[in-house]
Amino acid sequence: MLNLDQEVGAWDTVLLEPLTEDSFITNLQQRFKRDHIYTYIGNVLVSVNPYKKLALYSTNLVETYVKRAPFQLPPHIYGLAESAYRWLNDRGDNQCIIVTGESGSGKTEAARIVLQFLVLVSGNSPEVKKIKDRLVQANTLLEAFGNAKTMRNDNASRFGKFLDIEFDYKGDPIGGHLINYFLEKSRITHLSPSERNFHIFYQLLSGADIHLLKCLKLQRNADNYSILQNESHCPSTTEEDDKKLFVYTKGALEVLGFAPTDIIDIFRVLAVILKLGNLQFVPCNNIDGTDGCSISNDYELFEICELLTTDHRWIQRILTTRQIDDGVLTDLNAIEACKIRDLLCNTLYSRLFTWLINQINDSIKAKSLGKRRVLGVLDLYGFEMFKQNSFEQLIINYCNEKVHQFITNICLKDEQEEMVKEGLEWTKIEFFNNIVICQLLENENHGVLSLLEEPHIHTDGDYLTRLEQCCSGHMHCLIDEVNSPNSFQIRHFAGPVTYKIQGFVEKNQDNLPKDHSRVMFRCDLKIMQELFPEGNPKRCNVKKPMSKASQIQVSLNALLKSLNNRQNHYIRCIKPNEMKQPRIFEVGLVQHQIRYMCLLSTVQVWRSGYCHKMPFILFLCRYKMICPHTWPKWRGSAVEGVSVLLRSLPIPGAEFTFGRTKLFIRSPRTVFELEDFRRTR
Ligand code: ADP
Ligand code: MG
Repeated sequence: MLNLDQEVGAWDTVLLEPLTEDSFITNLQQRFKRDHIYTYIGNVLVSVNPYKKLALYSTNLVETYVKRAPFQLPPHIYGLAESAYRWLNDRGDNQCIIVTGESGSGKTEAARIVLQFLVLVSGNSPEVKKIKDRLVQANTLLEAFGNAKTMRNDNASRFGKFLDIEFDYKGDPIGGHLINYFLEKSRITHLSPSERNFHIFYQLLSGADIHLLKCLKLQRNADNYSILQNESHCPSTTEEDDKKLFVYTKGALEVLGFAPTDIIDIFRVLAVILKLGNLQFVPCNNIDGTDGCSISNDYELFEICELLTTDHRWIQRILTTRQIDDGVLTDLNAIEACKIRDLLCNTLYSRLFTWLINQINDSIKAKSLGKRRVLGVLDLYGFEMFKQNSFEQLIINYCNEKVHQFITNICLKDEQEEMVKEGLEWTKIEFFNNIVICQLLENENHGVLSLLEEPHIHTDGDYLTRLEQCCSGHMHCLIDEVNSPNSFQIRHFAGPVTYKIQGFVEKNQDNLPKDHSRVMFRCDLKIMQELFPEGNPKRCNVKKPMSKASQIQVSLNALLKSLNNRQNHYIRCIKPNEMKQPRIFEVGLVQHQIRYMCLLSTVQVWRSGYCHKMPFILFLCRYKMICPHTWPKWRGSAVEGVSVLLRSLPIPGAEFTFGRTKLFIRSPRTVFELEDFRRTR
């Protein structure tokens, strides 16, 4: 339980004396040892993953934090959530909580706790309760379909998530909207050693009763399915958990309003993916001397077709032949057939995932059209650096660069520039600005991602050649054909990552052949028409889908643009060790994270800076009722009005500094005092 009297070290590192990297880390370490996993840097919350259950989350504690300013109580994620919720309600400004950190540092858990907090502090009318239930259950469902066990995290999110919650004027949730970013669908057909496929497959196999299994033509044991098999066997200690979680997942589907027939359809698609993955191809020679192949385990094919309610000849055709111009078919060899089978599996799953998100969005959509405010929670995937890195890691790391750029821009660059612009005395605080890396990646002409889109790039080799021509001179890009062939290295803000070029072009284009979409659309299984709408022969002018790299750039830039107009709060998650173990705090590992997140510079800016600023006119509008001289109307200039107002307050003058156009306020305590005065006058 949180003990208010027994605080350890500094709550807020802004108050740390002396401030050095060592003292910063020692402070975190001492606090971590005593289970104080949260520490503030001004209004930024640093959270160190305890890797054990702590008695830090309860309804009682939520009540303690409600309506209290963050500095009045020990640092806690509830404090940060309360702050965001309070700004939303008191000021009506849209908010966002941005959670960042490496894989396994506790981002998703933090996002969940924020949601739990909002659920507990808001109203409980039947309508509001229904929406809250759905928001919570949306998380459960997404976790089942979008998370998997990886080497770094047993419950790693394999997609990025932004949940916007809409509130009415009373501060009650009335709806929400989910955006997902780039599901790592290649996991469906390619597992790294010691990793698992998405949780839902294991849940389904362990949790489905005999009747359901029979209806889906599945067998209980995961070893029967090649997409679930792994070279180094994963410990199956979680079988009981999977079984239990299946009950929750099914419950979530029901709460979210999925009809029983929809639920069965979803499971059917999963069964189809499991069985498709099992299909094997044997080479055969055609009369004309070309290579062909045939499916050796027909019984799986027949069962797939029963599940999809379609003719097996269609499926057989799309898996073993390719349609070239004018409807002419050409045979695929066994290797090509395996590739196309994998592409179909991956596409089925990612379409199912997107479909689920769309259904969830329908289910949590606000009914009323009145004025609303939003509070978003951003939980993107953390920076990734594996032994072997591919297109997926580049996309994930690109997202991390962009979010890092956004945060450092707001917290470090803009903050300092504004101080100079407003004529305040300021000693510049240095930090590494990763804009050069963002540009290297997304520069319109010759960026690493943009080059992938060039029309004459058909193979990975073409791409590597272009990279060499355009990027090899860049200080953050290294191409060394001798020591590291067929790859390129990017020096990211969080460390260098070497990417294997193999598969880049294909993964980026990621086009399912037209013929596949048509065959899928034609299945009698209802959901297939929704998953493959472009297969509808009546739909003409189907636009070529955007490439993966373009999609992520467009959606991420739109997101960051919208965050520019919000008040943002930051949770910086830190992973204390690689072993997922409690009580172990590896100083070197923590130091690395602190450095690349620029946390020390953040403390420095906070120490010498101000927590809040407001244009004079807005300040006067908001607080004029506190002072009899400015109420109801001040007739002079805004800056004079602000001076008169401040002189009437029992707050030391050192708390305020006048810039050219804005008033700067030093500590959060003062902001809360002002708000209290306002409320009580
Ligand atoms: P990320 O989303 O950053 O990859 P997660 O939020 O999934 O990381 O956290 C990884 C694991 O660490 C969780 O499954 C949980 O076991 C543990 N964990 C994270 N945050 C906490 C916390 N606040 N308290 C207890 N355990 C936590
Ligand atoms: Mg996560």
